Amino acid sequence: MSKNSFAGILILGFVLLVFGYIVRVSGSVEKSTDNSLSENPKLVVGIVVDQMKYQYLTKFWNHYSDKGFKRLVNNGFTAKSNYYGYAQTSTGPGHTTVATGTYPSIHGIIGNNWYDKISKKSVYCVEDSRYETIGSDGDGGKKSPNRLLTSTLSDENRIATNFKGKTIGVAIKDRGAILSSGFTANAAYWYEGGEEGKFITSSYYLDSMPDWVNTFNDSRIIDNYLIDWDTFYDISTYTESGPDDNDYENPFKGEKSPVFPHKIKDIATNNSTGKISYSTLASTPFGNSLVADFSIEAIKGEELGLDNSTDFLMIDFSSTDYVGHQFGANSKEVQDTYIRLDKEIERLLNFLDQHVGSNEYTIFLTADHGATNAPGFLKENKIAVNYFSSKKWKEYIELSAIKMFGTKKIIEGYSNEQLFLNHELISKLKLEVSDIKKKLIDKMQNYPGISNVYSSENIFNYNEDHYLRLLRNGYNKNMSGDIVYTLMPNWTYPRKGSTHGTRFNHDTHVPLIFYGKGINKGVTNRKTDVIDIAPTIASLLGISSPSGSIGEVIYEVLD
Ligand SMILES: [Zn+2]
Repeated sequence: MSKNSFAGILILGFVLLVFGYIVRVSGSVEKSTDNSLSENPKLVVGIVVDQMKYQYLTKFWNHYSDKGFKRLVNNGFTAKSNYYGYAQTSTGPGHTTVATGTYPSIHGIIGNNWYDKISKKSVYCVEDSRYETIGSDGDGGKKSPNRLLTSTLSDENRIATNFKGKTIGVAIKDRGAILSSGFTANAAYWYEGGEEGKFITSSYYLDSMPDWVNTFNDSRIIDNYLIDWDTFYDISTYTESGPDDNDYENPFKGEKSPVFPHKIKDIATNNSTGKISYSTLASTPFGNSLVADFSIEAIKGEELGLDNSTDFLMIDFSSTDYVGHQFGANSKEVQDTYIRLDKEIERLLNFLDQHVGSNEYTIFLTADHGATNAPGFLKENKIAVNYFSSKKWKEYIELSAIKMFGTKKIIEGYSNEQLFLNHELISKLKLEVSDIKKKLIDKMQNYPGISNVYSSENIFNYNEDHYLRLLRNGYNKNMSGDIVYTLMPNWTYPRKGSTHGTRFNHDTHVPLIFYGKGINKGVTNRKTDVIDIAPTIASLLGISSPSGSIGEVIYEVLD
């Protein structure tokens, strides 16, 4: 080695050292070393995408822009193996579980609807006739969160900030807006379809509509979405999904086949009256666009994220669920809906950067449940599927009851794969509840497609059985039924589109992404549970976890 090259190496080494130092110093300037406990994000945005399977994140990845889902994933923290830990995977329980950090067994939202033992009728999770609709003349606003049994994350934030931090919920579905934002929300807004085409609320929250909402509704921006729904990119590039035309998708009313372009204005127009039904928009990606439009107006109108008390905006993109139910998980329509949702997320993030500041807000994104693949699609690809008829099943149970006990009236209610017994009648007839349960369960167990039938006692003594644990977490001691049954994995109810509601991975595996202030960049393959979201955000904010929360902090997420 010559003297010159030795000196060269020394100089190079010195340059690298200095460079490394500069990188470290500038890195440490960028990364706050401030341990102050009051440096909270100005706004937390909780995004819940209705029916988003984890798979949609990866499957459509190449079609997403760098500024939507990819921005969240590339600069935030993704929990890849994130599951619902209970069996009743539907929207009401899902949103509530995200918000409360606990299971239906504790938060009490055991379904979208359920048979109520006290009033002896079926109830809807957010119905509340004591309140009035604000924003329209219809009944759509007679709602409240009063069936919730625990506080939500944003309730705890309201209390911690002495009600200076605001909470707003926005969704197409009332239950999405109401249950995600909790008791103390300043307001929850949801979509009234029909002839209205407006965002409304309940007198539970407000006596009159704020001006910014009236301005939004009066603008009739909604009419801009009564257009043809064609694919965002050329349909030939949608190679991740099945053929557009097949017989396991549900066409829109009046359509001959379920194919693009969907002429939304024609579909929404009543042929005899000429009137528009705005409900149609809920089943198109434009429902999500409306939710994004309204959310941006909410941030402006409510001045969210502008002062030092953390505000919460809970956004539910509900249209993904309607499209999924109608066309199925493998459809071009679902693919296009996610490609367009990616654009809405990009628009929302751009707005937040500009309005709140790019390092002043924190986002979490998840789903309320996943979905099966369309049964027809599975069959076409040699995967066994059988169709289960709820009607014949009910007839079989009732006939069995009549044969064994002389009356079918010993069963007073059915909901969410549960049977409710009429305990008064049973004691009047001098029969034993335990004997009836045993005999009914024996009969039910023999029926084709039935996987397991459990009595409430079985549910409580679940030991370590995986599926029994999921059932137990969805089972509320005071509210749920006397007998619980499950279908075999390859049996399903509807013949077309995709549904959800089971304890299987296709319904329980959902995305979980954290992004923004206080969030590390990274990814984990460790199994996490949706109940972990609320305690993780609570820890970030230094506030109490919701009252019934039993989730754990996903510590890798936090800076
Ligand atoms: Zn659904």
